[in-house]
Amino acid sequence: MYDLILRGGTVFDGSGSPAAVADVAIQGDRIAAVGALPEVDGRVIRDVTGLVVSPGFVDTHTHMDGALLTDPIGEPLLRQGVTTAFLGLDGMSYAPLSLANFRLFRQWLSGLLGLPPLEIETESVERFRRNYHERASLNTAYLIPLGAIRLQAVGFRDRPLTGPALRRAKRLVEDGFADGAVGFSTGSAYYPGPWSDTQELVELAEVVSRAGAVFVNEPRKRNLERAVGGDGLQEALDIARRAHVKIHIAHYRTSPETAGRVDELMAPFDQAIGEGVDCSFDVYPYPTGSSILVSRLAAAFQEGGPPAILRRLRNKNTRQAIAADLDVSHGAGLATAVLTYVWGAPDLEGRSLLELGREHAQTPGEILVDLLLAAELGVGYLVSPPADLASWRQVSEDCVRLLSRPDYMVCSDITPAGQFCHPRAYGAFPRFIGRLGREFPFLSLGQMIQRMTSKPAQRFGLTDRGWVKPGAFADIVAFDEGAFVDTATYDDPVRLATGVVHLVVNGQLVIDNGQVTRTLAGRAIP
Ligand SMILES: [Zn+2]
Repeated sequence: MYDLILRGGTVFDGSGSPAAVADVAIQGDRIAAVGALPEVDGRVIRDVTGLVVSPGFVDTHTHMDGALLTDPIGEPLLRQGVTTAFLGLDGMSYAPLSLANFRLFRQWLSGLLGLPPLEIETESVERFRRNYHERASLNTAYLIPLGAIRLQAVGFRDRPLTGPALRRAKRLVEDGFADGAVGFSTGSAYYPGPWSDTQELVELAEVVSRAGAVFVNEPRKRNLERAVGGDGLQEALDIARRAHVKIHIAHYRTSPETAGRVDELMAPFDQAIGEGVDCSFDVYPYPTGSSILVSRLAAAFQEGGPPAILRRLRNKNTRQAIAADLDVSHGAGLATAVLTYVWGAPDLEGRSLLELGREHAQTPGEILVDLLLAAELGVGYLVSPPADLASWRQVSEDCVRLLSRPDYMVCSDITPAGQFCHPRAYGAFPRFIGRLGREFPFLSLGQMIQRMTSKPAQRFGLTDRGWVKPGAFADIVAFDEGAFVDTATYDDPVRLATGVVHLVVNGQLVIDNGQVTRTLAGRAIP
């Protein structure tokens, strides 16, 4: 007698091979048998005839760190078939941090991660991971964030990591791996991370390499003068070459400006891969991104972290300087930004800066400094999709073309805070499988599933995950292929995806017949 049997589904095993109709028997937290099992009985049996049965999806890039601590269900991801969410992306999360540094970083990150309880344990990666272990619906895997390491080593300061500070930082990274992290992460514009230079990053990457782990890099866009060659991509490749580390480039795709130029986009990486650099990538299928407003402030205004930033925003002269700098550096880009989250003023969520600027006769920069001050830095925004539909469609096609490479996987980059978040939070996985997979059939459903399951599990060393085969952990999604659709759009983003009928995490049904069971079956893995 098995605990759970999914009977008669169209089973993809995660390898990329075509499907076969089979029963899947689950005992405890593992898959016990796959095949024709008409004789066997189960305590719980679900007829999944006609449904696709696949390993649960592994989302290599989420920002659920804060959200899961306040709402452990994570329904936007469950409805996309995700059973494992990576945390600690873009150099931003809460461990390892002292209480004082946790308070500081929590506030700086609030526009993105919300405001999780202050009582959680953050002093070590091991303790922090416990906050999610059997306390969330889905599994979590953790990356050691550069921001936290820098905070612990030198504070929210523009100081080089050298001598004792660098030694301390390396020890913290080492400890993080001993505590179960699966990688290390940096972000393009998330302070205090960008105050590092390439040399520091190479030294930290050597620790990552010794742990056999992955260096996840969102190529830098700030303090470019500190990057070798003054360029984020060149820096990423330099780190990979010099530290002999496996590198993973975060959500890397064309943009409306570079639509259609996939070969050009990949050329520097293809050359490096040809030379033996071990490189992988992920992508979410939308033409524009989402971020936090505070990250737009110039480096000079970041020094000291939230209390110092708020002091500058309160002072009339520095406030004007910050607004002017925002208008000069980001004016055009920010004009089409839409607010996704504003702490204390949810009525502003969904409003564009252009619209607010007209209403108050202010420039985007002026609006932004007022918002940041009123919301105590807790402001998130998304970039509007291109007005030109042809380039949007081309970016969608590029995303599927990129995913057809063997070194690509899928992520949501979910930023769940607020009532007007980026639609990727609700739609990334079904958008690839459903809408885009049908429109741009460059890879089979089996191949697409492989990029969402065994590929990331192997890359990041997740033990016995990403497969539907005997012995693997029973993380399984059963979905109706025709109904698996992203319903979230840029103008109506908080819409759950449809089509997932059952979702199993560690052998337990977290979605059963389309209903979320609220079972906290997720573990802190690997
Ligand atoms: Zn991100």
